[in-house]
Amino acid sequence: MEKMPYAEPWRVKMVEHINMLSKEERQKKIEEAEFNLFNLSAEDVYIDLITDSGTSAMSDKQWSALMLGDEAYAGSKSFKKMKNKITELLGFPFVLPTHQGRAAENVLFSALVKEGSIVPGNAHFDTTKGHIEYRKGICVDCTIDEASNPTLYHPFKGNLDPDKLENTIQKYGAENIPLVVLTVTCNTGGGQPVSMENIKSVHEICKKYSIKLIFDSARFSENAYFIKQRDPGFENKSIKEIVKEMFSYADGMTMSAKKDAIINMGGFIALNSEALYRECCTFNIIFEGYITYGGMSGRDMETLAAGLEEGTDFNYLQARISQVAYLGEQLKKAGIPLLEPFGGHAIYVDAMKFFPHIPQIQYPAQVLGVELYVEAGVRGVEIGTVLADRDPVSRQERPPKIELLRLAIPRRVYTNNHIDMIVWGLKQVWNRRNECKGLKIKWEAPIMRHFTATFEKI
Ligand SMILES: *Cc1c(COP(=O)(O)O)cnc(C)c1O
Repeated sequence: MEKMPYAEPWRVKMVEHINMLSKEERQKKIEEAEFNLFNLSAEDVYIDLITDSGTSAMSDKQWSALMLGDEAYAGSKSFKKMKNKITELLGFPFVLPTHQGRAAENVLFSALVKEGSIVPGNAHFDTTKGHIEYRKGICVDCTIDEASNPTLYHPFKGNLDPDKLENTIQKYGAENIPLVVLTVTCNTGGGQPVSMENIKSVHEICKKYSIKLIFDSARFSENAYFIKQRDPGFENKSIKEIVKEMFSYADGMTMSAKKDAIINMGGFIALNSEALYRECCTFNIIFEGYITYGGMSGRDMETLAAGLEEGTDFNYLQARISQVAYLGEQLKKAGIPLLEPFGGHAIYVDAMKFFPHIPQIQYPAQVLGVELYVEAGVRGVEIGTVLADRDPVSRQERPPKIELLRLAIPRRVYTNNHIDMIVWGLKQVWNRRNECKGLKIKWEAPIMRHFTATFEKI
């Protein structure tokens, strides 16, 4: 019997027009943008895959929830609704809203990270690393070795290596390690999930040494979907049951609600410890706003509560992750080198294999992003040497093991015809790959340079 296909569990009620420039116009635009895709005007992009963050489509329920927003400064109904939903789904009793994920990091790390603090994790996300290094803390990447082999199949390439974690604790001393950050799914590692077993073993180690385990949770429900698909024993559990179990092993979480909560702006910290919550409250008030709104309007907290419910629905997750996999499968058929297995929110093209003639220090993934934009009006983002930035002490470039162009898919936004267009564009670049040349940096900021750096062709 033929396998039943999937179809999105929604239909379109409103459309937003997008504009396609000619190839010549795009060539001119990217030169004016000095070859940094962040410098382009969004209206000059046909299919925008720069991020899946804050770019997703809200549902009719979320849009109508906007009208329920209670904009009271303190103790609003909308805050209570959001907090109750977080406690119901994720289990944490203490919740602080923040304006987005990095703000949650700023507040929590103000309480936890000091100069010289060691923060182990599984390939820390760039803002997470930025907030730790800004405080003169040190990030130690303990991701499993399998993650750095871009074609090796491993169902949970986001896993943190328990031995590396133990060794890090032995080397630096538990007293210098205020927390471990476990990112689910691991964005920097390619949207790769962390298994329940791995979550449990990291939890056990942290418990043994009294180190806090904090989840960087932007894509926690996509992680739960992979656990249901790939982790033996979880196939009959619901997404909500898996999510609850995942978070039962954490002391707290930071959340960018712009991802799996399917809203355009927002975030939060959720914690088990009242003492840590109280410490964070002070920083929340300084940086974000009062503790019952923290940079969010009441209406946004309403949409967050509704979005968390929708974002943990199996049918939604199946359609979302299957669309990402569809992109991956089409590209793979064309022979384009990709990171495998496919990530939850994005497909990552292996730029060093795509352009073996461009040295890593000439930013092959940046080159690929520029060429794909010129070819098809598709905007991806570099996850490679530009993003990895310079070593904060030596100021040397620190090229990562893999050089990737990330094609992040916004939730509920594009159809598979858009996906076919992306595939076509990459095939065109693939066919003329030997003619593409490297880039060099003209100007860069001292920290998080990828957002604003300018380039010129070599
Ligand atoms: C997006 C993201 C963040 C930062 O969140 P913002 O809402 O963009 O500030 C932190 N960690 C991970 C894993 C992310 O994907």
